[in-house]
Amino acid sequence: MLREPSTDGRFGEFGGRFVPETLVPACLELERAFHDAWNDALFRSELNDLFAQYAGRPSIITECHNLGAQLGIRLVLKREDLNHTGSHKINNVLGQALLAKRMGKKRIVAETGAGQHGVASATAAALLGLECKVYMGEKDIERQALNVFRMRLLGAEVVPAVSGSKTLKDAVNEAMRDWVATVEDTYYAIGSVMGPHPYPYMVRMFQSVIGEEAREQCRALLDGADPEFVVACVGGGSNAIGIFSGFVDTTSRLIGVEPAGGAAVGHGVPGVVHGMRSYLMQDEHGQVQEAHSISAGLDYPGVGPEHSYLASIGRAEYPSVTDEEVISAFSLLARTEGIIPALECAHALAWIVRTAPDHQGSTYLMNLSGRGDKDVAQMMEILS
Ligand SMILES: *Cc1c(COP(=O)(O)O)cnc(C)c1O
Repeated sequence: MLREPSTDGRFGEFGGRFVPETLVPACLELERAFHDAWNDALFRSELNDLFAQYAGRPSIITECHNLGAQLGIRLVLKREDLNHTGSHKINNVLGQALLAKRMGKKRIVAETGAGQHGVASATAAALLGLECKVYMGEKDIERQALNVFRMRLLGAEVVPAVSGSKTLKDAVNEAMRDWVATVEDTYYAIGSVMGPHPYPYMVRMFQSVIGEEAREQCRALLDGADPEFVVACVGGGSNAIGIFSGFVDTTSRLIGVEPAGGAAVGHGVPGVVHGMRSYLMQDEHGQVQEAHSISAGLDYPGVGPEHSYLASIGRAEYPSVTDEEVISAFSLLARTEGIIPALECAHALAWIVRTAPDHQGSTYLMNLSGRGDKDVAQMMEILS
């Protein structure tokens, strides 16, 4: 089991609750509400029913015999791509939307960059009868027209963030501003293990279902053994922490793979952003640097505080891979196994491909966090 954060929400020197005075009561209310809900058998069984009957859990594991033989390893995928809406994000938003209802909130606000968390939030809000407003940078709205249409189709209101760089950072600011003004009836749904306490802890608990299932499924497949490597891509870090949580007290090596242009743990320094202290990409003046990645879902300059903590104690490792390695891994999985991965998790596979020659015969468990349908148009341009 991963440890609980301190009472002020710290994982070692990381995390915390760096919010304006006006938001402290809201964070405390949320912390209490989550604690009560998580310890309430009725809430847990309602959530498990949504997982089973709506999201399609448990997700299966798949051993890749063709690619494993080609690489000289055993490769096992945790199939979060098979969930309703196509990724692990549904686990988190179902948990938070159910919590919002339990707290008596009528409305959800969220921010989104590439649009995936916005679509997931709009989905959960539609299912549970909540109003949903999604803040999105004006530039991202142009770049992600299909996801904007999806959100509107699901009944959400999409609001352009027009300040600053007109991207995710600005959408975060505007969503927080909305929350400050409307906290009585509004719930703020964060899309990864980021933000002020209790979000990083709460989102980890909602995603821990991935690791719990995977550990049992792997032990059944591997005659009781655990894999040598547990590998996941890291944007904010929610799919990675979800699968790590099942293996942190085993001898498995935990590997979080970052894009080379957004290596927050690998190349960042500790700083405060989005209500938390964590590793961040900053320039020499301490300004938050924009991250770049072939995958819009990974170009966030920071990382969840618990990953910074796991890196600082040496329990998890955070290598990075290049866009070229990602493109080749994306095609490789499609051709050898008939599975088109999301570009995010192609990062995890790229690291596996790179390291397999040094670990022949080892077993790698990889979190296939999402399906690649959303990325085929972009890949068609890149590959042609
Ligand atoms: C959003 C997304 C990610 C990145 O988010 P994490 O919080 O780091 O998991 C990774 N994979 C997929 C498929 C995503 O949609």
